[in-house]
Amino acid sequence: MVNRTFVNALCGAVFFCTLSSKGLSQHISALSEERYMYLHSHPEVSSEEANTASYLKSILSKAGFTIVDSLGFHSFAGVLYNGKGPVVMYRTDMDALPIVEETGSPFSPGAVMKSDRPIARMHACGHDVHMTTWLEVAEQLIQQKNSWKGTVIFLAQSSEETGQGARAVVASENFKKLPKADYNIAFHNTPELPSGTVGFCDNYAFAAVDMMNITVKGVGGHGAEPFRAVDPVLLAAYLVTELQSIVSRNLPPNDPAVITVGAIHGGTVGNIIPSEVELKLTIRSYSEDSRIKILKRIEEIGNGLAASAGLTEANYPKYTLLDMSIPSVFNSPEMGKMLMSAFQGKKMPLSVMPAKMIGEDFGVYGTSTHIRSYMLWIGTTSTQQSDCPDLEDCFTGKLHTSDYFPDYSTTIPMAVETMRTALITLFNTRPIPITHSVSPSLNKSKQ
Ligand SMILES: [Zn+2]
Ligand SMILES: [Zn+2]
Repeated sequence: MVNRTFVNALCGAVFFCTLSSKGLSQHISALSEERYMYLHSHPEVSSEEANTASYLKSILSKAGFTIVDSLGFHSFAGVLYNGKGPVVMYRTDMDALPIVEETGSPFSPGAVMKSDRPIARMHACGHDVHMTTWLEVAEQLIQQKNSWKGTVIFLAQSSEETGQGARAVVASENFKKLPKADYNIAFHNTPELPSGTVGFCDNYAFAAVDMMNITVKGVGGHGAEPFRAVDPVLLAAYLVTELQSIVSRNLPPNDPAVITVGAIHGGTVGNIIPSEVELKLTIRSYSEDSRIKILKRIEEIGNGLAASAGLTEANYPKYTLLDMSIPSVFNSPEMGKMLMSAFQGKKMPLSVMPAKMIGEDFGVYGTSTHIRSYMLWIGTTSTQQSDCPDLEDCFTGKLHTSDYFPDYSTTIPMAVETMRTALITLFNTRPIPITHSVSPSLNKSKQ
């Protein structure tokens, strides 16, 4: 959750935040409203977005885009060549979450029952807002072909919520055949900003995510005779607390990270010392250096504790990094500067957002190919709630909750204006040359 005082202080110190949106269209078109209502009421969870993908595909295809399919799961791209110029990739995600909606919306998918129970699927992360915006921007770019030159790739990505979609896209043969993007862009909606306000976060914006299981081994025995055993419950307890020293004692204080042990399972009853205990961790980091250091220190600490308990190397803990790691999202400051100046020219409401420890697999596109990328935030909380002094208390539900309901009728037209302006700005600017790696790579890491 955003600390508004902190954001406002940042805004005051670094940027000037225009909170007026006079002159911008705040009325959703009938077509976009119809599309939003359809997508909202037909959510599909990760890797099951077949209907959503064909819905988007048919609109893009009718508009004049060339469809490139088979980009992993249900991902596809619509490509439009419009003369010589930069190549810009604009990504939307398509998946919903397994949550039963409780917003009371008349077009809530929760109204659909299966075996007397509402179906658990909901666009609780607002990807329906992303898709509706993406479709209208695609159509506007076709209508305004004379105002830009270049190639646009509209990428519709499956399985963002599971962190697998972008990796599948990048690994697919058809993606490799697409023109190489000079810029990647996307946005994510947020209830932490007023509807339509554009949030910037230069440099690291989302964290790299690693999930790890650790099996702490010991020697089982009678609970009354621990001297004849090696107690893995005690070792696991030491390990949980020692892991917390990594961030505070091994990483630079200006490179934040989080290690959370979210689950611990071991043993059955009080008088039996089990032979092993299972820990489940999530690790969040920004820089690749810190990420590698954390993974290394976890093993060093775990092995050191096992050795001090008298265990041999064969019984050191087993560390399993799950196959779902995603890199951090690094927002190019140069690109941020270009976009901010374009938005300021249109008097769009802007704000500065703090970096998040949550993950977003959009980073996969920039990280694996060293392409300048930016993921904007766009607010979704109605400004009509003017009787509410602190927006934080007025959220229309948080992301990933059953009561998240964006103020779509104001947000979508402003998001369309934002993304269309962003794309045309990128097309009309010569690509910034890449002279060095702009974001971290997972290549060196242990998978
Ligand atoms: Zn989400
Ligand atoms: Zn999301």
